[in-house]
Amino acid sequence: MRERTLFYSLDLAGVGTPDVESMDSYLCRLAHEHCLRPKDLIETLIAAYQCEGISPGQRGRHLNHSKLNGHTRFGQQILNTLEQATGKSLGASALSHLSSLFPGMHFANKCAPHYCPKCVQEESEHSHGRLLWQLNCVQACPRHRVRLRPTDECGAQAQKALPSKHRPWLPGVCPTCGTVGFRCFENDPQTATDDEVWVAEQMGRVVAQSHQPSVPWTEDSLRQGIAALVSARFDGSVVKASLTSGLSRASVCEWLGKRARPNLSSLVQLAYQAEADIVSLLDGRYLLSPTSGAKGKAVQLTNRQYRRSKTNLEEARIALIAACDAYPPPPISEVAKLLGINRRTMRTKLPQECTALAERYAEYRAAELESNYAQAVDFFSKCAQALTDKGVAVTWKTLQGESNLVVYTRGTTLRTRAFREALRRFQEKCPVENDRNFAKNPASHDAVCTVPLSTCQP
Ligand SMILES: [Zn+2]
Ligand SMILES: [Zn+2]
Repeated sequence: MRERTLFYSLDLAGVGTPDVESMDSYLCRLAHEHCLRPKDLIETLIAAYQCEGISPGQRGRHLNHSKLNGHTRFGQQILNTLEQATGKSLGASALSHLSSLFPGMHFANKCAPHYCPKCVQEESEHSHGRLLWQLNCVQACPRHRVRLRPTDECGAQAQKALPSKHRPWLPGVCPTCGTVGFRCFENDPQTATDDEVWVAEQMGRVVAQSHQPSVPWTEDSLRQGIAALVSARFDGSVVKASLTSGLSRASVCEWLGKRARPNLSSLVQLAYQAEADIVSLLDGRYLLSPTSGAKGKAVQLTNRQYRRSKTNLEEARIALIAACDAYPPPPISEVAKLLGINRRTMRTKLPQECTALAERYAEYRAAELESNYAQAVDFFSKCAQALTDKGVAVTWKTLQGESNLVVYTRGTTLRTRAFREALRRFQEKCPVENDRNFAKNPASHDAVCTVPLSTCQP
């Protein structure tokens, strides 16, 4: 007889296809089936199997979708316990089997899970979240050719938002307002570009095949694939391959020299540029991809852009001199950004001009602060005057109420300083005369009363 498992098990949806379900989606469906909230289900799992390094007290942090779907240690532990608890093989729902190939950063850590607006509407209640949608480099649904949306955006009015403890956690249901199929959005989803669809199609094939035991993807096979791509498309030049794909000069060289593993988004950028089929690259070969994206435009998936600056030193000098004469003068960082030059390089190459601009900017900022301070004192003085006219004593509390602003007694900000100054001008009595706590603590008394505690005897 089969042993009983902790939970009644569900089947993982879409195994072996690009539509394979993500682990966070499986977990939410399983919790729903057992009338539990997802974090309570995780709590039960942790208590039943005693996961190493995870204490039950941390449960608020446990439903972290990106940690579950990517290849973190936490995700791996939950996957293992979930397999024991359901008796099902769930390896296909997370990306832990790719952990030897790609570093975890920028892999599948979108802040909120994403979904395809058309897929969830077609499937309504029986929807499941796709692992593909959670990859950082994937921004489109390959089937519907529309952009994905994050689940933390809601199309309904703010007053329709449910209180946080009543929010549903089910794939395909808006967690904010509870509308099935995210029908709270009235507008059509955005159409995806050809590049985005290309990336999604390629990654769909990777996700569909990645967990199968027959697939021999290793670091070495990936390196062979990249080497084949570089020799076929870039005459064997690793620098050319990197720069054409919009990566840093040394990226591809480092990957091939075993000094770094490729970040998934960077690898996709390289493959796109060389029209390579990513599954074949992982297999260790270079083959043209069956579909191709829009030609002639580099796809940009990484956050950093490695563009060469076209500004020369003379142009930078002229721009710095012009910036000195401008009003208000911009900070150096802004000029450097406009010119596309590193700020530190500019400081070393043009020290005189940079110092002049820095001085101009400092003068301008000091004057600006001075005028802001004067304005703030003026504002608080007017409020204090209004209080006096009403016959109300001007104290820290009444002045805060009148100005409708919060002022912290210990603060050293411009607001606090201006507030203290206005108080000093109007205050006749100690503002805290009835508060005994201040008598015990001279520092907090001195922060609100301009007369020192020793001489201030209310
Ligand atoms: Zn779709
Ligand atoms: Zn909604």
